Amino acid sequence: MLELHCHTTYSDGTLTPTELVAAALARGVKALAITDHDTIGGWDEAYAAAAGTGLEIVPGLELSTVKNGRSLHILGFYPDPERLKPVLVERLAGRQRRAQQMAEKLADLGYPIELPTLGPGMAPGRPHLAAALVKAGHVRSPEEAFDRFLGDDRPACVSYEPLSSEEGVALLRQSGAVPVWAHPYLFRGGGLELTLRNLVEAGLLGIEVYHPHHSFQQVATLESLSQQYKLLKTGGSDYHGPQANAKPDDWGLLNLLRVPLDLLAPLKDAAETLRQEGFSGAIAQ
Ligand code: AMP
Ligand code: ZN
Ligand code: FE
Ligand code: FE
Repeated sequence: MLELHCHTTYSDGTLTPTELVAAALARGVKALAITDHDTIGGWDEAYAAAAGTGLEIVPGLELSTVKNGRSLHILGFYPDPERLKPVLVERLAGRQRRAQQMAEKLADLGYPIELPTLGPGMAPGRPHLAAALVKAGHVRSPEEAFDRFLGDDRPACVSYEPLSSEEGVALLRQSGAVPVWAHPYLFRGGGLELTLRNLVEAGLLGIEVYHPHHSFQQVATLESLSQQYKLLKTGGSDYHGPQANAKPDDWGLLNLLRVPLDLLAPLKDAAETLRQEGFSGAIAQ
């Protein structure tokens, strides 16, 4: 089975790439995408851990963009790392500045925290600030941290440095990545179909149809939209690691959606086509 949306300690996941690979093997995953926020730093460790196990690693990332003032995530599969790196250096620096700004806002509100020191290629995000708030004793849980301070409309939240969703789609295509709109129903900045049309005009090639936050009805709508717009379908559990108090071997959401493996071949074909077209940002009509 297929897991096309997973985070590691290179962004806000709690498992290292090595631990994630072990968990995926234990859960019967056959192909596993590493899709950290704005970084591909976890790939090498995942490739090394999966070597010889039969588990296929799908190289990817989840690019953070802004549309109508709200965050919109775009998954990119099979980018050419050399083409993508210059973009990601800037996005990662932006995430570091943003984390600092959020920490300053928290301090101004009377809740000083210590930001964790992350290694090279690791992307800080709001869950790191939530964990720091728990550690400092200001809140009891990460959920409380989001409810009071870090949620989209809460006082310590800072939005990503500007990168429009359309620019994001184009940047991914120019780096050879197949751009897929992640969890469309979590987007709060506009209607589903209008947003989808904007993204398709910019060069979007797929929709993340299967996601734990999508209801059966929403999945059905996304399936029909992907057919109507001739888009690829992907799915994954948006895995960030096991629950805080999970028993050993309880991997939580990992592979719970049982996404069929046959969605992978069309994704690979699309990546191959992008390469043959010479990494064009334009849409092949
Ligand atoms: P960032 O990309 O830094 O804005 O962080 C986004 C991540 O924060 C998401 O991938 C989720 O894992 C997490 N997150 C967002 N909203 C909430 C929430 N209300 N409660 C808990 N986690 C959240
Ligand atoms: Zn995340
Ligand atoms: Fe996301
Ligand atoms: Fe995600």
